[in-house]
Amino acid sequence: MGEAQVSLKHLFRVFTKPEHKDSKLAQIEQHLSDNIMDFLSQHVVTKKTSLEEIEKDFALPSVPESPEFVSEHAESLLTKLVAHSVNTYSPTFIGHMTSALPYFHLPLSKLLVGLNQNLVKIETSKAFTPLERQVLGMMHNLIFDEADAFYDQYLHSAKHALGAFCSGGTIANITALWVARNKLLGPQKGFSGVARAGLAAAYRHYNINNLGVICSKRGHYSLSKAVDALGLGREQLLTLPCPQQTLRPEDALAQGRRYQEEGNKVLAVVGIAGTTETGHVDPLDELADVAKELGCWFHVDAAWGGATLFSSTNRAKLHGISRADSVTIDAHKQMYVPMGAGMAIFRDPEDANAVRHHAQYILREGSKDLGATTLEGSRNGMAMMVYSTLHILGRRGYELIIDQNIEKAQAFAQMIDRHSEFMLTTTPTLSLLTYRICPQGVQEALQLAGEEEKIKLNQKLDRLVVGVQKAQREAGKSFVSRTRLEREELNGLAITVFRVVLANPLTTEQDLRNILAEQVDIAKGMRLYKELNKAARQIVQAAVQA
Ligand SMILES: *Cc1c(COP(=O)(O)O)cnc(C)c1O
Repeated sequence: MGEAQVSLKHLFRVFTKPEHKDSKLAQIEQHLSDNIMDFLSQHVVTKKTSLEEIEKDFALPSVPESPEFVSEHAESLLTKLVAHSVNTYSPTFIGHMTSALPYFHLPLSKLLVGLNQNLVKIETSKAFTPLERQVLGMMHNLIFDEADAFYDQYLHSAKHALGAFCSGGTIANITALWVARNKLLGPQKGFSGVARAGLAAAYRHYNINNLGVICSKRGHYSLSKAVDALGLGREQLLTLPCPQQTLRPEDALAQGRRYQEEGNKVLAVVGIAGTTETGHVDPLDELADVAKELGCWFHVDAAWGGATLFSSTNRAKLHGISRADSVTIDAHKQMYVPMGAGMAIFRDPEDANAVRHHAQYILREGSKDLGATTLEGSRNGMAMMVYSTLHILGRRGYELIIDQNIEKAQAFAQMIDRHSEFMLTTTPTLSLLTYRICPQGVQEALQLAGEEEKIKLNQKLDRLVVGVQKAQREAGKSFVSRTRLEREELNGLAITVFRVVLANPLTTEQDLRNILAEQVDIAKGMRLYKELNKAARQIVQAAVQA
């Protein structure tokens, strides 16, 4: 690797002069702008390189002593990093919530980095602050639909916040429960509040054993991080079984009552609007009643599913969301904004004050600095990307994409259902579904098999799914993910399934047919597939003879 000069003059150049238009970096930039799909398909070469091999390229712990030429560095990024990254734009990569993005994000992100605003305070962000407040207001409006006078009063109020913009759903969930905690254990006569006095003093003052959060087993692991970070402890995340994939309100209520009878207090009930694994939506309206009954906070984690609110046809699936105290929405999921854009939205504009923080040199009292009510400090202007996407696509544009994703998931579900080699394991509420390989003969055998045989067949099917998923991923043409789901008909036993997220607008039904065909090919080449069919035949024969 060539060494660049170590001189202030040279470094000054790096700060002030663009790369020459024939340089490697400029070429990369041009290729990305001209045709990102082509760039990715040329440079992201999914060779079978193991992670261990890749790690060798990133092994040195010492900081490079001398400067490198930008062009040479760009070249090494292409070979070491880009080549072994993941092509999230590929229409046949349907296992992630991360998908292709609209083109305008490339130049917009340059504008974002070029301006390098810091939203922590007005002094370093100016118009970005009202913009972010407006974005939060738009999402608030989408969820809670308050009157114009409400937004006139609160959207730009220095004493209020309609939400907290942050880097993602995890921080949004933590922020929402942080606000809930500080409100519940707030200051009273003789007690300065949990924010000042700490959790131990708060439990003593309020005479509480433990604070708990109720959600279903399908709750995102960020909720577990949240109760940990907020000092409640992971054991106080009360995750209830949900064989139908959604939290049963009567279970949540019974659990909450039992918990509170033991001297504990339920901090919040969390409803999920689009589970990460299957896309199911909890009965939000009923859960709002449960929270009311228990006298606790109601949070809705709509990180993935929140964008469904853009669709007039599908928004009813989130009925009851407007009764939430707080809602998490990730713009970097179904709102097609680059990574790093999450929001916690609060129904009551006063609520964010429960976590308001002032500091002398920054975040002065009475200022509109957003940093006063966010968990994060320095933050970039990602809200601009949300703002622009909301304008460029519009509600009706989003509606078309969301509706199309859901329709595509339904079409794929039908394709799987009719296919003799597959079995649908969860039907799509939103644009997620799960299924597994399960040849027709095995499906019949499962009906006839005794308990023990059934378990054995299922274990074989699990291994087949894992084998096919891995082989497909390694072949590099397409990607579906996998997860484990408990099944009611198997007395809560978990099975391994393929998980599909239809988020990429570029995915066609033909892509989906090809993915199934590839899976069948892979399976038929496995010894396990033959064993499984043989075992199934024996079970069917035994049943016929009996
Ligand atoms: C993705 C997701 C999260 C976490 O969001 P990040 O942006 O990954 O931090 C939380 N909840 C649900 C339901 C999600 O789908």
